[in-house]
Amino acid sequence: MRRFLVLAALAAAAAAAPAQAPGAEDLLPAKVAQYAQAVESVRGHKFDRAVPATEIDAARLKETLRSKLAESFPASPEETKRTLVGIGMIEDTPNLVDRLVDFYGTQVIAFYDPEPRRFFVVRGAAATLDGEALEGAAEKLIYTHELTHALQDQNLDLDRRIKALKDDGDRALALQCLLEGEATLVMIKAALADLPGADESVEEQIAPLLTAGSLEKANAPKDVPAYFTEQLFFPYAEGTDYVRRTVKKGGWAAVDRLWASPPTSSAEILHPEDPPFAPATNLLPRPETMGPEGARFLYADTLGEWGLRFLLRRGLPSPEADAAAAGWRGDRVAFFAAKGDAIAYVWRIRMDTPEAAGRLLEALARSRKTNASARPEAARREGVDLVVTSGMPGPGGSTGR
Ligand SMILES: [Zn+2]
Repeated sequence: MRRFLVLAALAAAAAAAPAQAPGAEDLLPAKVAQYAQAVESVRGHKFDRAVPATEIDAARLKETLRSKLAESFPASPEETKRTLVGIGMIEDTPNLVDRLVDFYGTQVIAFYDPEPRRFFVVRGAAATLDGEALEGAAEKLIYTHELTHALQDQNLDLDRRIKALKDDGDRALALQCLLEGEATLVMIKAALADLPGADESVEEQIAPLLTAGSLEKANAPKDVPAYFTEQLFFPYAEGTDYVRRTVKKGGWAAVDRLWASPPTSSAEILHPEDPPFAPATNLLPRPETMGPEGARFLYADTLGEWGLRFLLRRGLPSPEADAAAAGWRGDRVAFFAAKGDAIAYVWRIRMDTPEAAGRLLEALARSRKTNASARPEAARREGVDLVVTSGMPGPGGSTGR
């Protein structure tokens, strides 16, 4: 669910752009070369090859976003939406895809696309923000950020990697945190390289301002479910903190090690003080066989501590929700389309202790008083696991309860 790779954002940074811009198309390769060098000097890695760049207009941007969005959904857009409504992540939202495309469209000024491995600048995107074209400091921020993604791609083969995580949204989110965090930090350091005397303390002050999340969240449109906006901003804000801590501790060599073995869960991003752990696997073996009679298996996914926390927060104050979600050690949910379009699901969540599973059970029940799932839901603890079901057959199901 949360695999949509928006590689841009930073609209707010560009709004501060000073004036004057020559017609861009001819200048693109020269600019890309110039800013690629800035990225190399911060990051200490060379590009293997020049990054091809193209200008696109707003209409083509929307087409691109629409097709990437459709690709990123685990089922059809309509069915994906119904599963999210079913489990209580979002309200039923008419024209969700259109709203998302419009929203993402406003966030994008330039982006790097790992398929077809090309850097795109949106014609007139900055101009629509403040009446002036993209230039100067803001241009450097955006180019260095996006070109860092190109550098990552040359080393990480992003398209393949992201597609391989298609059925593990939480792991995909953790990878996003690394990618966006690194790109944002390189961008900040490249900008600071232009300021004589700028040191660590300046970075401390400026980093929170330049992580798109904190700037843009306030402008998030009301007609897009918070699930999508918060998921979009999380890798910029928390991911940047994560990568900054990593660089502070071990330099860029430590980020090279993350390239070789990226974070495996949002829990790893949320709890930097805890030793990393491997999330539990095989929590729902053969999910496609588990559905109720006559139902169609839609997809299985991992919602992660981020997803669990988000769901609980819809019915509980954040501190309570976050405390109940801490201790996450893995989860797996499977969704089915049952008769009459109803969504059925089974969700198994592994916690670190039976006590944590008990606390989660209790918190979920309280949260459901204000944010019920679409159909009757049953939840029970099995040792360190919580099993949550709706519309499922058998003794574990909620049917008939
Ligand atoms: Zn990015």
